[in-house]
Order: sequence, then C-alpha cells, then structure tokens
Amino acid sequence: MMADFDYYLAQFVDIHGRPKAKLVPARHKEMIFGAGAGFAGFAIAGMGMGPHGQEFMAIGDRDAIRPVPWMPSTASVTCEGYVGGKPHPLDSRVIAKKALTAFQETTGLEFFSGLEPEFFLLKKNDAGSYEVATDSESLDKPCYDFRHLSSVSSFLMELRAALAGADIDVYQIDHEDANGQFEMNFTYADGLRTADNLTYFKMAAQAIAQKHGMLCSFMPKPFIERSGSGLHMHMSAGKKIGDNAFEDKTDPRGMDLSPMAYHFLGGLLAHAPGLTAIAAPCVNSYKRLVSRGSRSGATWAPINIAWGDNNRTAFVRIPGGRLELRVPDASANPYLLTAAIVYAGLDGIRRKLDPGQPCNDNLYQLSLSDLSARGIKRLPASLPDALDALEADEALCAGLGDAFVNEFIQVKRTECDELLLQVSPAEFRRYVDFF
Ligand code: GLU
Ligand code: MG
Ligand code: MG
Repeated sequence: MMADFDYYLAQFVDIHGRPKAKLVPARHKEMIFGAGAGFAGFAIAGMGMGPHGQEFMAIGDRDAIRPVPWMPSTASVTCEGYVGGKPHPLDSRVIAKKALTAFQETTGLEFFSGLEPEFFLLKKNDAGSYEVATDSESLDKPCYDFRHLSSVSSFLMELRAALAGADIDVYQIDHEDANGQFEMNFTYADGLRTADNLTYFKMAAQAIAQKHGMLCSFMPKPFIERSGSGLHMHMSAGKKIGDNAFEDKTDPRGMDLSPMAYHFLGGLLAHAPGLTAIAAPCVNSYKRLVSRGSRSGATWAPINIAWGDNNRTAFVRIPGGRLELRVPDASANPYLLTAAIVYAGLDGIRRKLDPGQPCNDNLYQLSLSDLSARGIKRLPASLPDALDALEADEALCAGLGDAFVNEFIQVKRTECDELLLQVSPAEFRRYVDFF
C-alpha cells in the first residue's frame, strides 16, 4: 500500500506524448478515479475537440500511481481520457490499450516492450542559445566517455533514484555517441507499462535536469554533425514476464527467433513507411534518419527498410531471441508508437508474412543498385512522405482509427507547413547570389 500524499497529479499525454496534468489536493483524490478531472479538450493538442462541446475527463488507473519526489508530497496518477462517459478514441493511452487487447485476443499472449531513451543535456550560453552541458565539444568518439558521465553523475543518480521510487528499474546509464548525449536503460515490461514508464521517465528527467540548471532535450537531431536521439523499441511476447514466445533456440537461421517473431517482423517491414510517421513524428526526425554527417563516423540510425542479425545500420536489429526496432526517435509518443507497432506486427502474424533475407552488411555503404538487387527500399525521407504512407496504410488506419489518423495527419501537416515552407538562412545564403 502506497503512503499517503498531499497532492495527486491527474496526468495523461497529448498527441505529441507531452505530459499534461492537473494537481488535485488529496481530499479530492477520489474524484480522479470516479468522474475524473475535467479538462477543456480543445486546449490539448490532438484531441479533435472544439471549444464548445463536452469536457475531456481524465480518469485515473489505480495501478499506475507513483511518487513524484521532485514535487513536495505528490504522486502522479496515469489517466485515460473519457468524453461523454466513453473512452476517447483520440486519447493515446486508450489507443495503446485497444491495440494491446487486439494482440492478446489474436495471440493469447501479452506484448512486451523495452524502450531505450537517448537525450541531450544542454545549457544556455551567454548569448542565450543552447549548447551541450558537459563541455565535451572537442571530444572525438565520445561514446561511453567516463569523464563526462562523471561530470553529470549527480543529475543521473537523482534521476535513477526517482525512477526506482516509481518501480522503474534502471540497469545501465552511459554517455552516448554524440557529445553531451546520454542514455538510460530500464527493464522491459508489458507494452502499456513501458509507455507509462517512458512518460514518467521524461517527466522526471526534465524536472530534475531543470533543477540542475540544464535542459534535458528529446529533440531527435539537435546538432546536424552528431548522431541524433533514438528511442529503440525491443519487442517480445509471452504469458508473463520472463516467457518469450518470440524466442526459439532451434531457429534454423541461427537468430533464435520463433515463427511468430518472423511473422511479426514481416509486418514491421511491410508497414515500415506508415509506421515511420508515428515513430519519427516531427520534421526534425528526418535529419536523424541519414547515413552521413556524424563526426563520430556513424549515425546508427536506419535509412533503409531492412533487417539484420545484430546490424545497427538496419531498421530492425536482431539481438537474439527478440526484435529491436531502430527507427523510433526520442520525440515519439510511446503510446502511439506501441499501438502502431502492434498493428503492423499483428498484420504480419495474421498474414504469416515472410521478412525475406537478413542483411548483415553496412547498409550505409550499399549502392542503390545493391539495394534494389536485394529488394530493399528506402524509408520515407521526410515527414510529408511518411504521412502520405500512413494515410495509405489500410491496416494501420483501421487499427489506429480513422478519426485519430485524420487528426494526426492534420496536426502534422500544419507542423510541416510551418517549418518546411521556410527558406532557412543557410539556404538563402547558398542561393541568393549563386546563379
Ligand atoms: N543515437 C542512435 C540513433 O539515433 C543510436 C545509437 C545506438 O545504437 O544506441 O538511433
Ligand atoms: Mg543508444
Ligand atoms: Mg538500442
């Protein structure tokens, strides 16, 4: 039984995965589990609501209450959105739950996932712009650097302690491949719990970094000459944690995967273009999905729809007995990501899709003719291309729901217009007197 708190946060996320909340004094906490905390739906991005209609009611999950140690005597309650007494079909957690139920009904198993968040620690310089907080600008091959891990260890340890108090079990923390970039790994769980965990992780990381005078940024590619921030998803399935129906030690291909895992993989590959709109959901995401430009020598991000045995240049890597999807970036909404992946994989299971041959070469170095000889296609190169693919993907639209997909596409096309129709200062300088 959890200790009593003075305040409870009725918390959910918007379409971008950003936490939204109301602070409810403890004497009113039962309201969160009854009628819910009321919100103006029009004020929340991506809820598809006008300024005139019913309230968006956030109703709490009693199994998802956790202490928030960076606020005095406060706990957060993860909520789902209801409108007119029914689960709201545009609420991210409602969408994830529906997909996970579909997985359960089709396979008789639970879907398990593990997310690997990468992030930059930044601070403002005297000129008011952000730079990396760890003073590691000149560092070559910064991955696993000890000195800069050590320099932000008080932040990392405070974050880990907050996560431990929320039953999120961190097992590794490292300096990543870009200067000022870190990764924190915690144990896998059922798909819903992992999406909740990632949301809590972001809330904690951003609040605690702010306390330490830093910005924890989940922007996918803040610095063009360094690798970006991924949110790799590891996938398996089973009756309970510890079981793994995606693993088969007798796999004739030697990757320890079961037929079900190969079919799920076939689904991920078949729906890769549409899935990418949800996994790499902002304009900036596509500056991460490139093969060149990183000072450390590799971007480690996928550009092709291919899979391989421990291949970190591929869309899906097989670490052995499970799948790792490498396309998601740190800006992805973990609930929508989970739902889209599950619908793609389930379509593969239902249609028994064959993933084809693995590719164990460095995919960044294959020429277009090498790729076409192997039947390997490119991932969408921009958000508009990915949105077109999502709109045309019948299985993803049917699963996620047309109302949600229409809203997502509208929100994202507005974002594209706002950013992609700009003539950047660099572009202007390059062309204004060139011709
Ligand atoms: N930061 C890389 C990315 O953008 C991933 C590095 C890794 O393999 O951990 O996906
Ligand atoms: Mg990493
Ligand atoms: Mg990884």
